[in-house]
Amino acid sequence: MSKLTMDKLVALCKNRGIIFPGSEIYGGFANTWDFGPVGVELKNNVKKAWWKRFVQEDNSCYGVDAAILMNPRVWEASGHIQSFGDPKMDCKNCKTRHRADTIIENFSKGTVSAEGMTNEEMEKYIAEHDIKCPNCGKRDWTSIRKFNPMFITSRGTLEEDADKVYLRPETCQGEYVNFLNVQRTMRAKIPFAIAQIGKSFRNEITPGNFLFRTIEFEQMELQMFCKEEDSMNIYNNYKEKALKFVKDLNVKEENLRFHDHDKLAHYAKAACDIQYNFPIGWQELNGIHHRSTWDLSRHQEYSGKNLQYTDPFTNEKYTPNVIEYSIGADRLTLLLLCEAYDEQQLEDGETRVVMHFHPAIAPYKVAVMPLIKKLHGEKAEEILTILNKEFMTQYDESGSIGKRYRRQDEIGTPYCVTIDDDTINNGTVTIRDRDTMQQITLKVEELVEYIKEKIKFI
Ligand code: ATP
Repeated sequence: MSKLTMDKLVALCKNRGIIFPGSEIYGGFANTWDFGPVGVELKNNVKKAWWKRFVQEDNSCYGVDAAILMNPRVWEASGHIQSFGDPKMDCKNCKTRHRADTIIENFSKGTVSAEGMTNEEMEKYIAEHDIKCPNCGKRDWTSIRKFNPMFITSRGTLEEDADKVYLRPETCQGEYVNFLNVQRTMRAKIPFAIAQIGKSFRNEITPGNFLFRTIEFEQMELQMFCKEEDSMNIYNNYKEKALKFVKDLNVKEENLRFHDHDKLAHYAKAACDIQYNFPIGWQELNGIHHRSTWDLSRHQEYSGKNLQYTDPFTNEKYTPNVIEYSIGADRLTLLLLCEAYDEQQLEDGETRVVMHFHPAIAPYKVAVMPLIKKLHGEKAEEILTILNKEFMTQYDESGSIGKRYRRQDEIGTPYCVTIDDDTINNGTVTIRDRDTMQQITLKVEELVEYIKEKIKFI
């Protein structure tokens, strides 16, 4: 198989109704993408699989769907407003934008931390060490300017009265502010988790690489509230559970690895990413973070509300530790697209592109194909109406059967059902497996159960 590149994947996604460039008829809008009819199914299935595994199958985990627009004080407590103004500079030669502190840290291979440096000190360091643009190799920097990592909008109908509000850059604050609401209403006992899937928005400095880093994306994440003495165990369990989840979606182990952080935020006790071998190299898929009592303590301080938990048996009052597991729905979708992609040389000399998605996340589960439209079309439509009550089902009656199979292979449909004379005479259909290309014969009434069994995500 020739090597998968992002460009190849972008082209396939565009041509097959998976993902389109955002606002395309206006020339696009950089780093935004629109999921098409096939892609929306794929991403919904990814989210469903995650929710099933981490919320439905865990009775100590409760879901929420919090508002995107939050009281601006939330972002003071989270530290986002204070950190407004990440130091950034542009390369005048190639017009790329970079974080000055990251440039220094990368240049010094982590031996120099730019955290406490002023902009002037960073500019001096960059000049003295002749640090060049990692993109074009020239040193032609603008001065360092503050960068705003959150999208700002305003609340209020009169411009002069309008208050600033922010599009959330992370979903987790919706869980922290609802900690007591969920605990009380669900009579939840520690350890318990609150999970959420929702949109986040970041004014990323270096967005790009298709879905990998965008300015608007969905996060699937949970915050587990626990006692300090249990926290490291819970952290390690989530590392394993997070890895198993991706492997269970048919991602090869050799393409995944843990990356434990050596540099931690001052409040964090441990942090780890799971990385995937993307076409752009090993990159973060998700994060698992031990955040100590930091988040709840900060919200307690900024809201003035007591967010302590009272142990129902001992009456002990304490601020729980938090273990966070956070994964981008779009980034995982990109990973699954990369992992599924395959180009196979067939015996007849043709090449087929096939997406080997786990059947649970495949956009369409089955395609119905009358062998000859005129003879078998009516029966095929009858079978379509049985199947599409249960599954996302495609119907394709045009072109040779071989061509129709290829179209389904390219969007990863695990099963194709062909309707022919045997269906009309004996009530049987042939069902073809995407991966093995083998066909078996089934009775029409066996179809639904057969497919249901095959597409389970356990
Ligand atoms: P990165 O180091 O890649 O910027 P992060 O450490 O800032 O990520 P978190 O804030 O922990 O990431 O977000 C959790 C997850 O959300 C990431 O592991 C990733 O899957 C996803 N994610 C974060 N930023 C983006 C983005 N700009 N576009 C798409 N997905 C993202």
